Amino acid sequence: MRPARALIDLEALRHNYRLAREVSGARALAVVKADAYGHGAVRCAQALEDEADGFAVACIEEALELRAAGIRKPVLLLEGFFEADELELIQEHEFWTVVHSGWQLEVIERASIGKPLTVWLKMDSGMHRVGLHPAEYRDAYQRLSASGKVAKIVLMSHFARADELGSSSSAEQVAVFEAARAGLVADVSLRNSPAVLGWPQVPSDWVRPGIMLYGATPFEVAHPLAERLQPVMTLESKIISVRELPAGQPVGYGARFVTERPTRVGVVAMGYADGYPRHAPTGTPVAIDGQPSRLIGRVSMDMLTVDLTDLPQAGLGSRVELWGKQVLASEVAMAAGTIPYQIFCNLRRVPLVYG
Ligand SMILES: *Cc1c(COP(=O)(O)O)cnc(C)c1O
Repeated sequence: MRPARALIDLEALRHNYRLAREVSGARALAVVKADAYGHGAVRCAQALEDEADGFAVACIEEALELRAAGIRKPVLLLEGFFEADELELIQEHEFWTVVHSGWQLEVIERASIGKPLTVWLKMDSGMHRVGLHPAEYRDAYQRLSASGKVAKIVLMSHFARADELGSSSSAEQVAVFEAARAGLVADVSLRNSPAVLGWPQVPSDWVRPGIMLYGATPFEVAHPLAERLQPVMTLESKIISVRELPAGQPVGYGARFVTERPTRVGVVAMGYADGYPRHAPTGTPVAIDGQPSRLIGRVSMDMLTVDLTDLPQAGLGSRVELWGKQVLASEVAMAAGTIPYQIFCNLRRVPLVYG
């Protein structure tokens, strides 16, 4: 069988979840949207179910998948419902729903609700993507409270720039949020991973860690708490072919790499069809039998090439870590001009192997 696979370390996932709770001192919804950022939502939720306060997903399809797998803990729909008829399933499965827009509020007011809902009422405190305008927030809260359809309301907002530790943007968003919600007595949820790790002073009864659960830093710079994260996914494969080339020889599509010296080139069974970023340039780190090396040449669909010249022990069958505990996904992402979130979400074709 093709040796490409992604090992998923569920103990590391639990460690990272505990870290989110420990450093925030809050309850934590484990964000498992987008198939747990490529790590497999059902298996990840099962691994966390005993200790997690709940889960968060993007949409009801993802929430139903968790319930079908037997997950009983609360599941929050981060974008709420897209259509009014989802409210029936939301009640049946006791999902928690975000309300981010006036039309959703009107749907709830008009709906016949048997079981009162848990609503996370989202304010646009400055990101300007979704959320109620601060000036409309108190009124929306009061309408929901008065509707008789809602048992509990959590006040939430989302940061645009929490990953930028030197930016004043998050503090400004908190100020907008606090001013607009003054006097409303309810739980608060503001913090995603970068805010859990980087903004300890932000109030929160509930945090919403995503990327940090999977062990990747949300920051572009070193951070002491991010050092404590344990990578969950190891993407690995093997060397399936080796060739010795003299200096001056092109390697791969577009001859994007030309040997500068006599070079041993290893071909790895891994390509962009597996989700390895095609834009990763020559020099992107890899580890071969535990030794650091580099990608050379252009990534193709099913294969990529690495430099074995300084690794005389390495050869056919050598294990290659594309990212994991030795080569961080965030380093590969940075080299390829993207972020670890996208690196993980792009994963496909390779089997996920849980341990
Ligand atoms: C995806 C998402 C999160 C998790 O973000 P991370 O940066 O991965 O921690 C939290 N809150 C909301 C509203 C989200 O959409």
